[in-house]
Amino acid sequence: MRKLAALIPLLFMGGASAATVVDCGRLLDAKAGVWRDKVSVEIDKGTVVAIKPMAPAPDHINLQDYSCMPGFIDMHVHLSGETMKQVEALREALAGNPADSAYRSVPLAEKTLKAGFTTVRDLGAQDNLNIALKKAIEAGYVVGPRIFTSGTSIATTGGHADPTNNLSRRLSKAIGTPGPVDGVVNSPEEARQAVRQRYKEGADLIKITATGGVLSQARNGQNPQFTEEEIRSIVQTAKDYGFRVAAHAHGVEGIKRALRAGVDSIEHGTYMDDEAIALFKEKGAWYVPTISAGRFVADKAKEPDYYSPLVQPKAAAIGPLIQNTFARAYKAGVKIAFGTDAAVFPHGDNAKEFQYMVEAGMPALEAIRTATVHAAELLDQKERLGQVAPGFAADIVAVKGDPTKDIKLLQQVKFVMKAGVVYSQPK
Ligand SMILES: [Zn+2]
Repeated sequence: MRKLAALIPLLFMGGASAATVVDCGRLLDAKAGVWRDKVSVEIDKGTVVAIKPMAPAPDHINLQDYSCMPGFIDMHVHLSGETMKQVEALREALAGNPADSAYRSVPLAEKTLKAGFTTVRDLGAQDNLNIALKKAIEAGYVVGPRIFTSGTSIATTGGHADPTNNLSRRLSKAIGTPGPVDGVVNSPEEARQAVRQRYKEGADLIKITATGGVLSQARNGQNPQFTEEEIRSIVQTAKDYGFRVAAHAHGVEGIKRALRAGVDSIEHGTYMDDEAIALFKEKGAWYVPTISAGRFVADKAKEPDYYSPLVQPKAAAIGPLIQNTFARAYKAGVKIAFGTDAAVFPHGDNAKEFQYMVEAGMPALEAIRTATVHAAELLDQKERLGQVAPGFAADIVAVKGDPTKDIKLLQQVKFVMKAGVVYSQPK
């Protein structure tokens, strides 16, 4: 015992002669919600080992004129794609191969990281492209954020993530009816199978589309598309594998079914009412707003032929509502984690969400916390991500000036470090 105790200071000193030191003019303590002035962050092997009063040296990374923050976390992106006109989307659906999407996702991942998002949750892609991208980034083949992903999301027949929506019968027949492996289930049994399939394929969490959605080729953007029993089966099975469950939901009935069944987060949540808000709080569930996606589709709905005739009316109706829903949820005290649905709008613009949150009444510092400590909690990574503190991954971003005075500064991140590696720095 005594010997071990004597060793600990030695081990600590070993860590203290860190490989990298970053001198920050100020650093956000995201947990406490306060700024610490003039600190040196010591980093070793990708992890923060100490935070000390600033002692500048020539071999340190000099961010003395910058505000440093934990790397941002976007809880809702789809790196496998990006918004395009309906005619192009149709062409891609007919002629595109998985490799086309995979190569396109390479620069999208890099853009996301360089915008300051060191971690993302990728909530659904065809062909498990998101699992492949996660592996490619971990192996160092591709530059991008740390990814936690659902693999392919889970829907019901004709539901928001059914890959065969609105195809001709002839094409549908040729492709075959999608089942649990492809992410389409129609019973609690199939729901269970779909979760286990995702475990087998290397997903980190489960995503379901509990209601209709805006960009699917289907009439309704808000109808409930799972029975409560089916969602319950997903949530219970997910628990066996340590998965959390994220539920896309616009309509209020689908939101309530998902919350009662015990999902961890509701994505979009557009038509939540007071009863749904009470359920969020009772269940301790998180709300991931995606205001950015709402604003973008509302804008694009005004452009002729950008969306298909099925999608356009949904974009015009649902898009403009989300920011107001966010304002109500925040006021009511619902737990909020930052998420944008990047892909619906261009990747790299993720930080506009901060501005939209502040516009809707959330203080800037709190908005930053939704993308750091709070997001890390929903990710089940609160011991490792979302803070710049000893023992945490060395994910640091910095802007020049005070983002709590000008939230738009977060759209001009000047320094990005992920796991101790610098990906961009001031020129
Ligand atoms: Zn989405």
